[in-house]
Amino acid sequence: MVENNIAAGDFKVAFPELIQRHVLEHASSAEILSFANDDEPYPEISATLECKLRSIAPLPKFKAEKSELFPTTPVINVQSRAEALSQKLYDFCLNKQNPVTIIRGLSQVLGMNLSLFTTKWLVDQVPKHPCEVRKQFAQAPEFNLDEWGRNQWETHSTKQRSTVQTYAKYQVQSFVETRDFQLRKRKFDDAGLEGEYVIGMNKQIKFGTNVDLSEPKLFGDHLDEINKLPWWLRLNDRRNPLSQVGYPILGMNTLQLYMKVLGSRTPGHQENLNMCAVNINIGPGDTEWFCTPPEYWAVIQKMCRDNNVNYLSGSWWPNLKELEDAGIPVLRCTQKPGDLIFLNAGTVHWVQSTGWCNNVAWNVGPLNADHFKQAIERYQFNFGEGYQSLIPMAQLTWLMARERENFSAILSHDFKIFLKLCMQRILWRLQRQLYKYKKLEYRIVYQPEFDKTPPNYCEKCDCELFCILFVKAVPDFDDNGKPLPLETFCEKCAHNVCTVRQNWIVLQQHTLEDLGQVIDELVADTIVKKENVDD
Ligand SMILES: [Zn+2]
Repeated sequence: MVENNIAAGDFKVAFPELIQRHVLEHASSAEILSFANDDEPYPEISATLECKLRSIAPLPKFKAEKSELFPTTPVINVQSRAEALSQKLYDFCLNKQNPVTIIRGLSQVLGMNLSLFTTKWLVDQVPKHPCEVRKQFAQAPEFNLDEWGRNQWETHSTKQRSTVQTYAKYQVQSFVETRDFQLRKRKFDDAGLEGEYVIGMNKQIKFGTNVDLSEPKLFGDHLDEINKLPWWLRLNDRRNPLSQVGYPILGMNTLQLYMKVLGSRTPGHQENLNMCAVNINIGPGDTEWFCTPPEYWAVIQKMCRDNNVNYLSGSWWPNLKELEDAGIPVLRCTQKPGDLIFLNAGTVHWVQSTGWCNNVAWNVGPLNADHFKQAIERYQFNFGEGYQSLIPMAQLTWLMARERENFSAILSHDFKIFLKLCMQRILWRLQRQLYKYKKLEYRIVYQPEFDKTPPNYCEKCDCELFCILFVKAVPDFDDNGKPLPLETFCEKCAHNVCTVRQNWIVLQQHTLEDLGQVIDELVADTIVKKENVDD
């Protein structure tokens, strides 16, 4: 059996079917390794562990009923600290039935000082701090028109570097101009509601994005405020795996701030690897959210393709009427100043400000078995599409298994089974790869890598390189004859660069016995826990 084009991220993910197969329920890592270490692997096991890349996720078989197309978004009014920290709030927000929840009153009852995130604070304290600015054309939120007024899904924006001070000037000016203009207009027209702003269609606007608040020396106070939240909403908590990887993943396990004027748009997307998202509106204006349950993502992906825009890497703004016609429910809601939006795993969303405001956002997860399953499925999908997964899921899986005591609040029996099945597949895959490389007489060098160091990615295709990576046997040199930093590749990309075996070294970062031991300990743990449950 010859295997081609394999990398560490490559494994099938049909977990529910796998659980039905008792063949792997208690397989030891030694058995997995011996199954893999064979020219003709044991057929049933190999069929179970074999990978088949799905190029596209299956479409859901249903269309929502007309009456279900515009569900109302739940708003939880938190009245006390006890309510804020309650299990009830956690259970509600993480319930799969609730793709998005607005939590109101949280910052007041927890005594959070949100003034640290205002434009005034930023201008006073860190005026030169970088801010990315996106130029967009203001539009009504229901659709997206091109310059000739035709409906389209693809949106365009140009990106430039700026500072918070420069953007702040624009933000304030834009507010004053619009307010004065609309006040004058109201005097003449005697129409329009006080405090509501009408979008000036096709006017060029600027959206200040990705203000990085990750530097603890500058933004330590901000992190302290965020850490007043319940543990599952915090940026840092030992029960939140994403915060425990040991290095910053910008915008995911670090804070990012957005500075907006009326009409600023965040195009449609799911969070990277379908993680949950937390977003607080700092005010003073409102922001409008459009959310679709995760099971509809594949239909929207198809609609993107029909509209010639890439679902993962492109910028798109759905047409509400088209979604309605396709039977896709949309939760449309307004996030007022102080409101915290909790986006459950995999919720498709697009956002437009209906006023002038700042928002601060980050990700949490995976917090339960379903989140983990969604993350692994997306990891797989990203791999097939050549889109980078920002979280190294293989590394994170071993981290969660190793530190399962820390994650005991989230690791249910099902969650552990998912981890185990995922690790068994990766272990099997690694052994198959090493078996092949040895047979082909590659030079394999063991170079141990320790936990909590940033992962290696393939230089060409951005996939995570877990345990096995290809490096050039002779490094490249710059014009001055200095060796360039070592580039790392997956097998497929290494062979696209050069097919000569002698030009490559295969680095192995863990022994498979060590990796297997973590699985065995996890398996022992699930058996013990299961017996306790049965008692
Ligand atoms: Zn690659």
